[in-house]
Amino acid sequence: MLPSPVLDCPHCGSPGQTGLFCSACDIYMPDPTGTVKKVTYNRRFWGSYLLEGVLYLVTLIIGWYIWLAFTAKDAQTPAKKLVDVYVLDIETGQPVSAGRIWQREVLVKQLLSGVVSAAIGVAWLIDYLWVLFDRNRQALHDKVSRTVVVYAPHGLPSSLRRPDEVLTGGARALPGRGVKSVAEELRELARLRDEGIITDEEYERKRQELVDRL
Ligand SMILES: [Zn+2]
Repeated sequence: MLPSPVLDCPHCGSPGQTGLFCSACDIYMPDPTGTVKKVTYNRRFWGSYLLEGVLYLVTLIIGWYIWLAFTAKDAQTPAKKLVDVYVLDIETGQPVSAGRIWQREVLVKQLLSGVVSAAIGVAWLIDYLWVLFDRNRQALHDKVSRTVVVYAPHGLPSSLRRPDEVLTGGARALPGRGVKSVAEELRELARLRDEGIITDEEYERKRQELVDRL
């Protein structure tokens, strides 16, 4: 699981972080830009589960699957797209592939809510309630799928693009490795500062950290 070592938060500097999210500011630790956060309970339950159910019904189910075909490549479901949340792989820290979204939404969730619930009546409930007690706000279907849901109101930064997307991006290198990815992150940082998402002070601190990595 990322991050493996004990780290200082790249956003607020809080030391001794061992989880996927900073315990002080809820920022997603593998994100150097500090714009990806732990999803709130509200966004997870009402914005995602409930909204997903509503969309499922109003699109007569088939519409939802067609919609999923478009959102899956962005590591999102239709409801997740509407509330700016993404599904990431807990091993790599990167967004999951479209195939993994289908696997998670259709195979794992259906198994948990259908087959397992037929045997253990409340399995579907335990699946969702798990979020309340999990420090990374993972549901059981996240545990099975090795995924975590994050909130990224400004979209995922380029450093968290899917590895296949990065590889097919021509000049881009794998994230976190070498000069090219640092240049990418510097551009991303400048964009975030220009859009007023991070302050000049945060920009300067993170820019220095990136330069130090070279
Ligand atoms: Zn922090």
